Amino acid sequence: MKKRFENQNRMLESFGHEFLVACPTCKAQAKVYSLGEYSPYQTGIIRRFSCLHCGLSKEYVPKRNHYNQSIVSYSDTWVDGSINIGGAYDWFFGYPLYLQTSCCGNILWAYNFEHLLYIKRYVEAELRGNYPYYLSMESRFPLWMKSAKNRAAVLKAIDKLEGKARE
Ligand SMILES: [Zn+2]
Repeated sequence: MKKRFENQNRMLESFGHEFLVACPTCKAQAKVYSLGEYSPYQTGIIRRFSCLHCGLSKEYVPKRNHYNQSIVSYSDTWVDGSINIGGAYDWFFGYPLYLQTSCCGNILWAYNFEHLLYIKRYVEAELRGNYPYYLSMESRFPLWMKSAKNRAAVLKAIDKLEGKARE
């Protein structure tokens, strides 16, 4: 029987409860998480970086605009003073994701283990649900990740990242 992936219409934002990042000091696996609601649109929340290997820890409450709203950027490049969503880094500090590797001429990345498994289930599936919600991850996966000819290579890269996540 063919593996099937039903659309769950999850948005990238729904995986932002935890980011595995490379510690800027010791390069080991560290975490970025929120003390409270993790939505990037929730203001006044302390966002924390913590590395258990070298003990480095930082806290940051993102700035707000004049309307008391979060300043969120979906640009490809890091914008200082914003919460930056969509690149291979955490939203708040901009540290590089620990779970990233080159694959098919691109970078495959995931915020955390749950996010990685979600991508894996999608890539593994030979049958996929039609018409995902346009803002969902399913509708935004890049073509190289969706292509059947890249499936084996992408799954191999995901395997490698699963190993890293368990370090
Ligand atoms: Zn460290």
